[in-house]
Amino acid sequence: MSEKKIPYKIYLDEHEMPKQWYNVRADMKHKPAPLLNPGTLAPMTKEELSGVFCEELAKQELDDETAYIDIPEEISKFYKMYRPSPLVRAYCLEEKLQTPAKIYYKFEGNNTSGSHKLNSAIAQAYYAKKQGLKGVTTETGAGQWGTALSMACSYFDLDCKVYMVKVSYEQKPFRREVMRTYGASVTPSPSELTEVGRKILAEHPGTTGSLGCAISEAVEAAVSTEGYRYVLGSVLNQVLLHQSVIGLETKAALDKYGIVPDLIIGCAGGGSNLGGLISPFMGEKLRGEKNYRFIAVEPASCPSFTRGKFAYDFCDTGKVCPLAKMYTLGSGFIPSANHAGGLRYHGMSSTLSQLYDDGLMEARAVEQTAVFEAAEQFARIEGILPAPESSHAIRVAIDEALKCKETGEEKTIVFGLTGTGYFDMVAYENFHNGKMSDYIPTDEDLAPGFASLPKL
Ligand SMILES: *Cc1c(COP(=O)(O)O)cnc(C)c1O
Repeated sequence: MSEKKIPYKIYLDEHEMPKQWYNVRADMKHKPAPLLNPGTLAPMTKEELSGVFCEELAKQELDDETAYIDIPEEISKFYKMYRPSPLVRAYCLEEKLQTPAKIYYKFEGNNTSGSHKLNSAIAQAYYAKKQGLKGVTTETGAGQWGTALSMACSYFDLDCKVYMVKVSYEQKPFRREVMRTYGASVTPSPSELTEVGRKILAEHPGTTGSLGCAISEAVEAAVSTEGYRYVLGSVLNQVLLHQSVIGLETKAALDKYGIVPDLIIGCAGGGSNLGGLISPFMGEKLRGEKNYRFIAVEPASCPSFTRGKFAYDFCDTGKVCPLAKMYTLGSGFIPSANHAGGLRYHGMSSTLSQLYDDGLMEARAVEQTAVFEAAEQFARIEGILPAPESSHAIRVAIDEALKCKETGEEKTIVFGLTGTGYFDMVAYENFHNGKMSDYIPTDEDLAPGFASLPKL
């Protein structure tokens, strides 16, 4: 098909939407390392995981063999309210950059939560409801996951308890109110409501909290409350599985026009959007059918892939969660203030960590000011105000397109535009006022985090 016929937006019809999720682990020769029980150091069994997670989700977490898993009808119905998400050809950006590269982005910000997180939230709420649970608990940092989960829970009439990192609770009142609009209860973490919260408060009075600490509180609240389970918005295998809907739609849309990408780029916090976007393409690469380049983009202030260690680590500050083998900066690592709340986690998905270790994907760390320059350029040309997290992917997509301008290569670049930045205007404000810092941790700054790694 001739180039001219590719529309600005490639949509799929409802009947072309994926009916199954794709589980990339099924095609991996080296499977991601299992979660370990922190007490016995034995791999977590389904029974053990089911104490924390819903049964069906525990099963998905451990399933390294089934390539395709049916999307239940009730979830498909919900997906159809805001999906398929558009795959946009960035003609205007290409023109502005004067690049021969062809740039596409998959935009996940077209729902009230404003990000891709709803794709997994609705699945997790569904399985909780199906199991007959009363509710779920979770943590949220910047608030995107809590917002998505509160929407999903209200749809299935489940109770939703969100532990929100205190600094965000105070700085992002609007996110908090969206969650409450959907009926969730929102508690600033650390709180007096849990044992682990009280302990952290006693040790660090006045602390403004961290994601790892909020996870510990949410897990404790789930396991100590009858009829509740804990849900997590990233990092886990099950979340990557649900997010594969992004990649499957992207692939179906590209296939419609015979487009084969050379390069697929996504930002990486815990790895769920990137994992979901690249999964079907990575599957082809793993099966030896096609070759693609994949780039994970992370903040230079929280460089899990590019400077982390591939090791078993705690997933949370309170050390109540199973141990995961991943690229990590150590659960004791606290990143300097950066404005991409969704990219501040110390670790990374075990699945992506294994793929990265096997040399199947690349990673790049970028500085925050350069990220906001790209964000603003993108907003002015393509019209969408991007989330700071998403803008990491925009930065590298633009950099790669500019390289093509030098070499004259007509590469096809696809990147994940994970969400909108309306609740991040304080970050934009700092950028506009020249108050944004680009602090990159020194090796000395990273040392305490590495020292906190468990010695197995
Ligand atoms: C949470 C979030 C991310 C990062 O999370 P991943 O699990 O790595 O995808 C990226 N973009 C947005 C908009 C987010 O809300």
